[in-house]
Amino acid sequence: LNRRLAGFGTTIFAEMSALAARTGSINLGQGFPDTDGPEEIREAAVRALRAGHGNQYPPGPGIPELRTAVADHQKRFYGLTWSPDTEVLVTAGATEAIAASLLALVEPGDEVIAFEPYYDSYAACIAMAGGVRVPLTLRAPAFRPDLDELRSLITPRTRLLLLNSPHNPTGTVLTPEELSGIAALAVEHDLLVVTDEVYEHLVFEGSHHPIAALPGMRERTVSISSAGKTYAYTGWKIGWVTGDAPLVTAVRSAKQYLTFVSGGPFQYAIAEALNLPDTFFTEFRASMRRKRDLLAEGLRSAGFRVYEPAGTYFVTTDISPFGEEDAYAFCRALPERCGVAAVPVSVFYDDPEAGRSQVRFTFCKREDVLEEAVERLRRLG
Ligand code: PMP
Ligand code: GLN
Repeated sequence: LNRRLAGFGTTIFAEMSALAARTGSINLGQGFPDTDGPEEIREAAVRALRAGHGNQYPPGPGIPELRTAVADHQKRFYGLTWSPDTEVLVTAGATEAIAASLLALVEPGDEVIAFEPYYDSYAACIAMAGGVRVPLTLRAPAFRPDLDELRSLITPRTRLLLLNSPHNPTGTVLTPEELSGIAALAVEHDLLVVTDEVYEHLVFEGSHHPIAALPGMRERTVSISSAGKTYAYTGWKIGWVTGDAPLVTAVRSAKQYLTFVSGGPFQYAIAEALNLPDTFFTEFRASMRRKRDLLAEGLRSAGFRVYEPAGTYFVTTDISPFGEEDAYAFCRALPERCGVAAVPVSVFYDDPEAGRSQVRFTFCKREDVLEEAVERLRRLG
């Protein structure tokens, strides 16, 4: 492994999922649903496969139907207008979109400011691009960004702000005021913004506001989303990038040498998914909200300190009430102790002391599975 990737051996999600499988535990670690998304969308993929749509290389930027559907969706929910031809790019999940954006926009030595705890691929991709990660820590219990602190982190080497709202793992949803403050700093210091909005339809308190819609942001923002979370098809790996044409062209340059293209027939199905009526999105959110309430309440009753998430499908907790401090050790032992797997949030901080006792659980599981998990966790105390 080269020096840039030293320390990025195996992802914590793979490690904890393997442990869950080995011990036959309920896996509330890695975030993937245990129920597939809409049947009609699966049927659309089957139809595409049978009709020979996308079985050979699709067009580099993605099939026109999907690019148009992405643009229509951004218009419908946020009033943003993108040209499907030049301002939308289909990627192999949000993961590739993140990698391609950073590889395209970061020069070696550039500083990239990202919230911590951060989604694991941010740190690895900043490193692969030769950038320097500068964490803006979201601190318990509120996990809000401190804009004065953000200002103090900006230097002449700062190139890019890497945002994530709704935020994995804390569930923080940036408020319009926070977004305006961040946007003002980006404009003042002429920074680029890459914003990961994969949980855009999983907001339970307040609502999702894309930073690209704010004054001065259109020309400096690359927005990223994915079908994985909204439509519960994480294995299909259909993601996308929207932004001003020069930025999307840059990201496309990197993307074409990473995967070139991917997911042919699935692109047709997700084009249909993006056009589902508003009721689909409202019902999805309502159902996930019930799961959030069930798990958050259950974890509290089991003795965890719970940080109620406003968005995403994760709950971050603190294990100090059990008299334990080391989240990583706790998560390694948890499957043996009670048959449930979780993810230590401590590994998503640069400072190992920060978030030392934080553990993340996902609630994108059937309600009976969540109830059984809570039952098992209650035996801990
Ligand atoms: N960003 C965040 C914040 C995520 O939580 C995830 C999925 N866990 C991704 C990106 C990756 O999305 P995809 O599966 O579409 O590559
Ligand atoms: N995004 C998922 C999570 O946060 C995991 C995806 C992955 O394993 N790379 O749990």
